[in-house]
Amino acid sequence: MSKTADIVIVGGGVIGLSCAFYMARDIYAGNAAGKIVIIEKEPVTGAGATGKNAGGIRAQFSSPENIIFSIRSIEAFESFEEETGSPLVFNQCGYLFLQSTEEQVARFEKQAQLQRSLGVDTQFLTPDEILKLAPALRVDDLIRGNFFNRDGIADPGDLAMGYYNAVKRQGVEVLTNTTVTGLELTDNTVSAVITNRDTIHCQKVINAAGPFAAEIAKMAGYDLPVAPVKRQIVVSGPLDYINDEFPMVVDVSTGAYFHKETPGLLMGWADPATQPGYDESTDDDYTDEILMRTLERLPRLEDAEIGTAWGGLYETTPDHQAIIGAAPGIGGLIFVNGFSGHGLMHAPAAGMVVADLVSGIAPRIDLTNFSPDRFAKGALIHETNVI
Ligand SMILES: Cc1cc2nc3c(=O)[nH]c(=O)nc-3n(C[C@H](O)[C@H](O)[C@H](O)COP(=O)(O)OP(=O)(O)OC[C@H]3O[C@@H](n4cnc5c(N)ncnc54)[C@H](O)[C@@H]3O)c2cc1C
Repeated sequence: MSKTADIVIVGGGVIGLSCAFYMARDIYAGNAAGKIVIIEKEPVTGAGATGKNAGGIRAQFSSPENIIFSIRSIEAFESFEEETGSPLVFNQCGYLFLQSTEEQVARFEKQAQLQRSLGVDTQFLTPDEILKLAPALRVDDLIRGNFFNRDGIADPGDLAMGYYNAVKRQGVEVLTNTTVTGLELTDNTVSAVITNRDTIHCQKVINAAGPFAAEIAKMAGYDLPVAPVKRQIVVSGPLDYINDEFPMVVDVSTGAYFHKETPGLLMGWADPATQPGYDESTDDDYTDEILMRTLERLPRLEDAEIGTAWGGLYETTPDHQAIIGAAPGIGGLIFVNGFSGHGLMHAPAAGMVVADLVSGIAPRIDLTNFSPDRFAKGALIHETNVI
């Protein structure tokens, strides 16, 4: 059976859903977008990386483009219910970056200056102030902490469901259990999406396939540098000393991060030695390493029970930054990929700029540095605050 649509979005994760939401909201009304279809291979939307992540939302980056993406996204999270009609648990408990060397202090001082110049009110906390905010931490080796109180933790399930409900109301068609197997090109422009069920003729295709983005790009003959890389999370059993104000803590020296996850603590760490691949199984050595690194900062964790652990895939690029823009040399194909661990927090801004690209207007946030051809040009983004 053959169908038609104006825009096909490949991937029903938070990025594809947000793109559909802003396209339908910002340009459907003017009838410019037309019929939008989301294609998702899983039985439900939001089951990929979106359903496996830690929920962290932060504006504390070291590059202007990421800070601006975060500011626009945090505003959207703060007004999520008003915008989408669905509630969002967004606990603005802040992100706290712990520094224990002079090199780290100098780096985070510079970042804070940039953040403040863009309207992010990053505070410097002394070890005593850190201890007040997060009483169980070991602070004897710490020099300082950087803290921004509009950062925090959002519920990924709320976000995916909120966008899903909104796009259904907006008239977007969501095809689950449907796998994209090919793209058809006419005169080097996408003209159809082939799935295991139908061929859908269309004018534009948005690649929002997360860790599978390179496979979709390859269907159009484009070599997109996005690789799937496993990241693991561990959640403890109940801990009575983690209060509601406990922030997202990032220990800059060890790379461990952790935040309150009722009734205990969610912990993670990005193992730089993990090789690309689609394996998401939990690995006991990886779990142990996360626990050891967290224990260094939170010695009381020693007595905690381990609740659960899981693996998920980062969609990683060579400079660990997103790729957003029209596919070079291929008409009608737009990439919104490679968020490398920041895709949840940047989903609203990503959706907004893709809506602009689709409607042919200048994106409301400058995308020059996210361009797909920056790798060929050797113009990588210099972001030092990657987790
Ligand atoms: C352990 C872990 C912790 C993380 N922590 C954070 C965090 O704290 N904060 C943050 O901002 N980000 C975090 N991330 C990253 C974040 O989860 C991702 O950047 C984000 O979910 C990407 O969304 P997406 O929609 O692009 O990808 P996905 O959610 O993976 O969605 C892509 C969808 O495309 C579908 N698909 C793929 N191929 C096809 C095909 N051929 N046909 C049809 N459908 C297809 C997939 O099934 C999938 O549902 C974390 C990720 C992991 C793994």
